[in-house]
Amino acid sequence: MDDIIIKKGRSGSPGYAVGKLYIYKRDQYHTPRKNIQDVETEYLRFENARISTKKSLESMYNMTRERAGSKNADIFTAQSMMLQDEDYLSLIKSNILEERKNAEWAVSDASRHYYDFFTSTDDEALRAKAVDIKDVSNKLIRLLSDDDQGNEMEFSEPVILAAGYISPSELVQADESKILGIVMREGSAYSHAVILAKTLGIPVVLGVGLPSGLAGSEIIVDGNNGKVIIHPDNETTDHYRQLIDEGINDRSRLREYIGKKTRTSDGRSIALFANIGTPSDAVKAEENDCDAIGLTRTEFIFTDRDNLPSEEDHFKAYKEIVEAVKGKPVVFRTFDLGADKKLKSYELAHEDNPALGMRAIRICLTDKGIFIPQIKGILRAAMYGEAAMMFPMITSTDELIRIREIVAEAEEELKREGKPYRKVKQGIMIETPAAALISDELAGMADFFSIGTNDLMQYTLAIDRLNSSLAPFYIPHHRAVMKMIEMTIGNAHKYGIKVTICGELASDMSLTESFIDMGMDALSVPPGRILELRRHICSL
Ligand code: PEP
Ligand code: MG
Repeated sequence: MDDIIIKKGRSGSPGYAVGKLYIYKRDQYHTPRKNIQDVETEYLRFENARISTKKSLESMYNMTRERAGSKNADIFTAQSMMLQDEDYLSLIKSNILEERKNAEWAVSDASRHYYDFFTSTDDEALRAKAVDIKDVSNKLIRLLSDDDQGNEMEFSEPVILAAGYISPSELVQADESKILGIVMREGSAYSHAVILAKTLGIPVVLGVGLPSGLAGSEIIVDGNNGKVIIHPDNETTDHYRQLIDEGINDRSRLREYIGKKTRTSDGRSIALFANIGTPSDAVKAEENDCDAIGLTRTEFIFTDRDNLPSEEDHFKAYKEIVEAVKGKPVVFRTFDLGADKKLKSYELAHEDNPALGMRAIRICLTDKGIFIPQIKGILRAAMYGEAAMMFPMITSTDELIRIREIVAEAEEELKREGKPYRKVKQGIMIETPAAALISDELAGMADFFSIGTNDLMQYTLAIDRLNSSLAPFYIPHHRAVMKMIEMTIGNAHKYGIKVTICGELASDMSLTESFIDMGMDALSVPPGRILELRRHICSL
C-alpha cells in the first residue's frame, strides 16, 4: 500500500471529489518548426486558420452559453478578440514574413512571448489572460498542423483531472459528467476555466502539480480547503464520501422547498426573485421557484453580437423570457453599458474612470438610438406576460423626467406603427449614494426601487469593484451602506412603492434577518440560491 501524500494548494472551486487520477498532457504537444520560402502563401495559410478559429470560438460560445450561461461563455468572446489583437498579430506576421518561420512556429513564438509577459506580473487578472493566450494559440497551431482532432479528454469512467492548466474550451468540450474534480498547477481563482468549473459544480484545487507517475492513483480533491490527498487510507476516503453524500442529499432536500411560502416561523414573509442574464437563466429561475425575475441584465443577452440589437431582437428575447416564467413578473433593466459591461457591437470611447463616466442611463439618455428600440421591445413583450422596466445608475430626478418623456415617445411610435404593446411599470436602481440620499424625491416618481448593492458599495466606499487588490478594504456590511438601504426602504414605503435588493448582498444570509426587519419586500438572487435562501428564512 502506498503512503498517503497530502499536498496543500489553494481553493479554486468548492466541493469534494474522490476518484482515479487522470493526467492531462496537452502541454506536451509538439509544434512543427521549419523555415519557409513562400512567405506570402504561408501568411495566407495563417489568415485562413485565424478565420476558422474565430468561427470555432463562436460555436464554443454558443455551446457554453447553453450549458453555463452567457457570463461564462464570454471567455470565448475574449479569446476571439485576441485573434484581432494588433500586437499579437503583428508579432506573428513579422515572424512569418521577416523571420521566415512557418505559421505554427510563428504562433507558438508569439504565444510564448505574451504568456511569459502575462505570467511575470503580480496581477491575477493578467495571469488569467496568460492561460487564454496559450489556449487560443494552441487552437491555431493544431488547426494549422491539421491536428485538430478535438477533444483529447476522453475517459471511459469519471476521473479527477490534473494538468498544468486546463483551458475553458477544453473544459467545455469535455464530458463534464465524467470530471469529478480538477487539480491545476497554474491558474487563478479569476481564470475563466475555474469560474466555469464553479458554475458546473466541479471542485478545483489550484497550485498543485502532480507527476505523471501518479496517473491512475486514488486521489481526493478537497476544494473547500484547497487540499489534495493521494493514496488516501480507507478512513479518509469514507470521511470524504460521506461529505459528498451529504452535499448530494442537501441538494435534493432543498427541492422540498419548491412551492413553499418564504416565511419566518413568526410569520414575517419576503419575496424571492431571480437575477438572470439570458432566456435559459429564466428557465432555471422558474425551475427554482422564483416569485419573479427581479433583474434581467439585458446587456448579457446581446454581448457577443456583431450588430446592435434591433427593436425586433429585443422584442423576441424578452418575449422568450416572459413566456419562460409563465406569467410571473419580469423586470428588464435597460442597458447598463460601460465600465465592466460591454457590447461587441457598441464601441465606447476610452475613459480614465469608466465607472464614473459614460455609463448605463447616461449612455441611453445621450444616444436615443440605442434606448428607444429597447424600450419598444419591452413594451411589446409585455403583451405576453407581466413585464416591467428598470433604469440603472440613476443619480437625479431630472434623469427620470427625461426617461419618462422618452418612454412616452416610444409608446407614440408603437401606436403610429400599429404594433400591439402594453404600458409597464417603471422602476429604478438605487445604486449610487446620490439616489439613496434623495430616495424621498425619487420615490414619488418611480414605480419601484431595486437596490444594487454591488455599485452602491463601490460608489459609497470608493472601492473599484473589479480591483481584487482592494479586498482588504472591502467591508461588505459597512454601516454607511446599511444606513442607505434602511433610508431607501423607509422613503419607498412612505410613497407606497416596493423595494428589492438585487446586488450580491441579497444572498448574504448573515444579513437576511436584518433585511426582513428593515421591511425589505424582496431579495433578488441567482437562480441557484433561491431554495437555499427560502430554507434559511423558514428557519428564522
Ligand atoms: C448592482 O450594482 O448591485 C447590480 C445588481 O447591478 P450590476 O451588478 O449588474 O452592476
Ligand atoms: Mg449595478
